[in-house]
Amino acid sequence: HRLLNVDHRAWMYGIRRHLHTFMSEVSMFVEAAEKHARICKTKQIRCPCFDCSNNIVWEDTDVIKRYLIKRSFVDGYIIWSYHGEAGGTFNRIDIDTGFDEVGGDDANENDH
Ligand SMILES: [Zn+2]
Repeated sequence: HRLLNVDHRAWMYGIRRHLHTFMSEVSMFVEAAEKHARICKTKQIRCPCFDCSNNIVWEDTDVIKRYLIKRSFVDGYIIWSYHGEAGGTFNRIDIDTGFDEVGGDDANENDH
């Protein structure tokens, strides 16, 4: 299996996008981000929405929630590397593959 199941993050990019589901997943993201901020002893959280692209920080997570719901996530932010998830693993995930094709057990292209 892959390091991280990309299918698990399909909600981020509008596959089967029900607003209700999306909002509760966004809340989970915000919780993870807040936890990471606490560990880093900061209140500033990078906003991964399409416009901010993790370049802008906010202290109010309600702002981030609103942005994500309105603008959705910046492209390719499958691994929340700015929010506590391990970075440097992007090359192990084919980001530009359609999400629907992920999930088979054929481990092709592994360790190219
Ligand atoms: Zn933003």
